[in-house]
Amino acid sequence: KLITLEGIDGSGKSTICRLLQDDLGFEGCIFTREPTTSWFGDAVNRALRSDTDHIAELMLFLADHADHISRLIRPSLENGDNIISDRYSASRCAYQGATLQDIFEDPLDWVRFLHKGWTIDPDLIILFDIDPEVAVKRCGDRGERSKFEKMEFLKKVRSNYLRLAAEEPGRFVVVNADRPLNEVQEEVFRIIAHAVGT
Ligand code: C5P
Repeated sequence: KLITLEGIDGSGKSTICRLLQDDLGFEGCIFTREPTTSWFGDAVNRALRSDTDHIAELMLFLADHADHISRLIRPSLENGDNIISDRYSASRCAYQGATLQDIFEDPLDWVRFLHKGWTIDPDLIILFDIDPEVAVKRCGDRGERSKFEKMEFLKKVRSNYLRLAAEEPGRFVVVNADRPLNEVQEEVFRIIAHAVGT
């Protein structure tokens, strides 16, 4: 099974992913992330840190995703492994669906279309949903963007995520991430344990 964890910056997703990785019950799962740790992923991270054209940035993300699928996702699934990925295609639909909003009428749909025919869709997508006001407070002002810009951007990303979840209710589980860590952790552990049958 392929399970992906999604959410805006500061949603607590990566913290829980680390906890999952340390939990003995999930030792059989393969943990991965996007952007990946390959040189494609390095290129994506460089683009994110600089003032890169947003289409070019998306293309780098897609190259990283294609490499991720052929190198790890497909062979692992064929081997019968369970995979947990910290971010995956929904991140691109939500984030690049926000960065490209001045270019396309429906950028989310366009980004989603670019995945058709070659990607491997997750069996389950866990969306850590949280109000950006709370999320930004959580991570402090460490970004290079101004707080206001960041907030407006994350509001758009969140609404894109919620749209994806509403359009594919069978694939998404929305978790309220504005709760104490142990509560969110417990719920996510339960959902994943059920999905992988442990
Ligand atoms: O939260 P994580 O460490 O996975 O994300 C790294 C950064 O990449 C975040 O700041 C996020 O905003 C950004 N990102 C993005 N577009 C994506 C995925 C991540 O802008 N498709």
